[in-house]
Amino acid sequence: MSKKKRILLKLSGESLGGDNGSIDPFLLNYFAGEVHEAVETGTQIGIVIGGGNIFRGLSEQASSMDRVVADKMGMLATVINSLALNDAIKKLGTDSVVLTAVEMGPFGERFNKKLAIEYLNSGKIIIIAGGTGNPFFTTDTAAVLRAVEIDADVILKGTRVDGVYDSDPEKDPNAKRFDSLSYMDVISRDLKVMDITAISLAKDNDLPIIVFNAIERGNLERVIKGENIGTRVGK
Ligand code: UDP
Repeated sequence: MSKKKRILLKLSGESLGGDNGSIDPFLLNYFAGEVHEAVETGTQIGIVIGGGNIFRGLSEQASSMDRVVADKMGMLATVINSLALNDAIKKLGTDSVVLTAVEMGPFGERFNKKLAIEYLNSGKIIIIAGGTGNPFFTTDTAAVLRAVEIDADVILKGTRVDGVYDSDPEKDPNAKRFDSLSYMDVISRDLKVMDITAISLAKDNDLPIIVFNAIERGNLERVIKGENIGTRVGK
């Protein structure tokens, strides 16, 4: 049996809501719908979702906290978002399961490569929660790590804009969008794709990253089908 296309979708916690510790039911159902439709393409889908809508280890709220404790809170926030997204996807009739970075019993089975690939091959979506399980990392790094572990073909980073720009397009009307970039361009120009740990892990493992606008309906399916939307980061 030839290997099916396998993607890892990274969504930020903020995709699900504002910065006020909330999950917006409309956005939750929107992303669940995008995944539900994209799975019809026959592509295997893993998802890593951040926790920034609820808690971040480096936020103002955490400024008086021990960083390790604050990061543990951030990782738990990703579990909350993962449970919510899993529930919304299942309600649409697509089979989905949460795997956790650390042992969490009833919240989900602990992630390991073999189990994750078995689930993907059986047609389930997998949502990998809890970041890397370690403080001082981000969910972008967790997403690259899991993508490499599950042997994904590409990581799709869903954002609010249609790719990577040379300056913030929400602030600068003259910002220029890139169609493609090398890992080294991203690192040397300090472009806001993912943090440097994530980019260098992707580079070391030759894992392409496509940054695309995830809030335009149908875009996840389009990018999976190979339409040239967004910015591709590779060698
Ligand atoms: N985090 C962590 N280790 C990880 C992944 C995440 O400590 O491997 C913590 C960290 O505090 C981070 C928070 O979880 O701020 C939420 O993740 P992130 O900021 O990456 O979420 P996003 O920006 O994607 O919503």
